[in-house]
Amino acid sequence: MSLEGVLNMKEKTKIKFRNTLSRKIETFAPIDGSEVKMYTCGPTVYGRAHIGNMRAYIFADVARRVLEYGGYKVKQAMNITDVGHLTSDADEGEDKLQKSAREQKTTAWEISKKYTAQFLEDASKLNIQPVHILCKATDHISEQIELIKRLEDNEFTYITSDGVYYDTSKFPRYGDLARLDVEGLQAGARIEMGEKRNKTDFALWKFSKPGEKRDMEWDSPFGKGFPGWHIECSAMSMKYLGETFDIHTGGIDHIPLHHTNEIAQSEGATGKKFVNYWLHSDFLVMSDQEKMSKSLGNVINLGTLEERGIDPLAYRYLCLGAHYRKRLLFGEEILKNASNSFDRLKRKLLELKENVGNAQFREMESPIGRKYLAKFRSEVFNDLNTPQALATMQDMLGDNSLSDVDKYGLLMDFNKVFGLGLDKIQPEKLDMDKEIQTLLEKRENARKNRDWDGADEIRNEIYNSGFVIEDTPKGPRLKKR
Ligand code: AMP
Ligand code: ZN
Repeated sequence: MSLEGVLNMKEKTKIKFRNTLSRKIETFAPIDGSEVKMYTCGPTVYGRAHIGNMRAYIFADVARRVLEYGGYKVKQAMNITDVGHLTSDADEGEDKLQKSAREQKTTAWEISKKYTAQFLEDASKLNIQPVHILCKATDHISEQIELIKRLEDNEFTYITSDGVYYDTSKFPRYGDLARLDVEGLQAGARIEMGEKRNKTDFALWKFSKPGEKRDMEWDSPFGKGFPGWHIECSAMSMKYLGETFDIHTGGIDHIPLHHTNEIAQSEGATGKKFVNYWLHSDFLVMSDQEKMSKSLGNVINLGTLEERGIDPLAYRYLCLGAHYRKRLLFGEEILKNASNSFDRLKRKLLELKENVGNAQFREMESPIGRKYLAKFRSEVFNDLNTPQALATMQDMLGDNSLSDVDKYGLLMDFNKVFGLGLDKIQPEKLDMDKEIQTLLEKRENARKNRDWDGADEIRNEIYNSGFVIEDTPKGPRLKKR
């Protein structure tokens, strides 16, 4: 089936984004008129990313897909932080990778290799498109040193006994992105400053401690050591995308610190505006309103979902159901509902596919079909309103005045933005999942009727299909054996 015609809409694409810099919805225009340069702050590879982290990358992927859907070519770069991210945001504590290496009795290099591979595997399962440039901090040490030297030349730096620091008082726009009250901060509660001149100053380069043998350290004109966390993103984004580029994405926690510091470093060095559009996604929170984070110990990763027989793309579906700038509430019920709705969607798709057969799909001629298409486009181009676009998709699928050919064509077209893998659904796999779920329900019924032998028999059947049942206070769960 050819889908080319479906996009022959006459109106010009206007994409709007909410820019953190202005706090306003703005119409997007790329610098060079055609190719959009986009940078996504990537993972710190000291452990497996949790599904909250993955939300930030799903969001960036959707933003890129929307741009591509709107006719732009996109060049996307993403960093892999494998050095310099310390356990405390105040430039203190242990390097997260070094700490993980110590705990796992290996080297920081091995930790980086292991969790970069894990991240890429998880991203692929979530149908996140590979970025054009994946850049590691440790592969760009000389670029980071060069940038620090430029900042030194421009008199933004000073040296303490433990590193080279950025003097934020020399950069008048410091904190604009986050609307930080810098003066208030300076006058406010005392925090441990060490040798820092201002509370907001941050490390560009940290010296290896005397007597300390780090797995990762480099010689530099300032002394042996390693880069601070923020400098990698400035150095690599400007190397690959230019000194001023279009879009920078990340989670909202990056606004007051990491991205604020990236702006200070880049603009301090070049004297030019660093990024035109800053886009930030909100957190995934557990039903008890706590943010999911490794330090809170309430972490779920993609493996946890898979072990329970949940399709990773059902999680992507769940993310699409909330606007990226809103908190995404996560819990048992919410996950189950999303998984069931996604299942229904996949079944509907297979049914349509069968009905359509080899019918040729040309230009979307039906006025009703065009209405849905126009509505969908206006929603996703309006600051990525995916929850609304999902609702439009459901309305479209339930509209009896549309032919199956049109429905199928529209669904495949919408999928370019959603990235739900609807073009690759296998009927066999779906039936298998369904079968096991039905068995699980049957076993529950047997138990309710105190038919213990029957329940055990079904448990064995499930076991033979590759799953074990875990009985939890919240009900039974499937786990891959
Ligand atoms: P990190 O690997 O710690 O540098 O974080 C990777 C990304 O995940 C960053 O963009 C964070 O903003 C984002 N992030 C961290 N925790 C959450 C959460 N609970 N929900 C959504 N995004 C998160
Ligand atoms: Zn970054």
